[in-house]
Amino acid sequence: MTATLAGQVALVTGAGRGIGAAIACELAERGCDLGLVDVDAAGGLNGVAETVRSGGRRALAMSADVTSMTAAEANVTAVIRELGRLDILVCCAGITRDAVVWKMSEEAWDTVLAVNLKGCFTYCRAAAPVLRGQRRGRIVTIASINGMRGKAGQANYAASKAGVIALTKTLARELGPSGVTVNCIAPGFIRTAMTAVLPEAIVAGAIAETALGRLGDPEDVARTAAFLCSEGARHITGEIIKVDGGQYL
Ligand code: NAP
Repeated sequence: MTATLAGQVALVTGAGRGIGAAIACELAERGCDLGLVDVDAAGGLNGVAETVRSGGRRALAMSADVTSMTAAEANVTAVIRELGRLDILVCCAGITRDAVVWKMSEEAWDTVLAVNLKGCFTYCRAAAPVLRGQRRGRIVTIASINGMRGKAGQANYAASKAGVIALTKTLARELGPSGVTVNCIAPGFIRTAMTAVLPEAIVAGAIAETALGRLGDPEDVARTAAFLCSEGARHITGEIIKVDGGQYL
């Protein structure tokens, strides 16, 4: 893989597994050192850090809940202290707590909004002064096609991802004058632990929705994220890129 991002430092949340882990590994392959955040470092996070290091890059694994503003500030500071700089932020941590609205608990609503939307804000808030100050940088957020089209049983999740899209566009306007791009990837159905728990009928329905007749892999999202972080994407900002095999057209 061409080291198109050589010498840069990226911070990825939700990096312990799934799409976040794939993005971290893809950015490392392209030459980035990595700050890795996940709520449970004992899970996959240390393994991802080892993968990054085995490829010759540096990795800083940090156990934190993305809903904590204090932890976000501390982790951005730690990345700059330990890895020397911060060029790229990827906000990928996310959860689902599915139910139709009339059966959805207040706790399910609050938790999903907190992790998916506030958890994106906290890291953007912490990184923005750094990226603005150096007048360069990239932010990539991860939404979902269900934040664009709505999805029965996912009012909390869809609302949180619609919020991520609005946050992305707003931040693109706010940081554009400082030379920082802010873009969003909206995946369709991707094979990860998040979707592995879904019934076979749901999976078959998702495949049937796609134009390509296939589900996505985390690497499909990771390659798009790496492109958005590259020099080739310098004139793209405030964009929402679906990586969904044509699931939502
Ligand atoms: P995943 O396999 O469940 O991975 C999510 C990661 O986020 C896990 O490592 C999880 O840690 C971490 N996380 C959860 N809550 C956190 C918190 N409060 N603070 C820090 N880290 C936290 O999910 P995925 O499928 O890779 O999804 C990644 C992102 O893509 C999410 O934002 C998701 O909404 C989005 N997305 C996924 C799909 C899909 O089909 N898979 C489609 C559209 C969008 P633990 O494992 O320790 O809980």
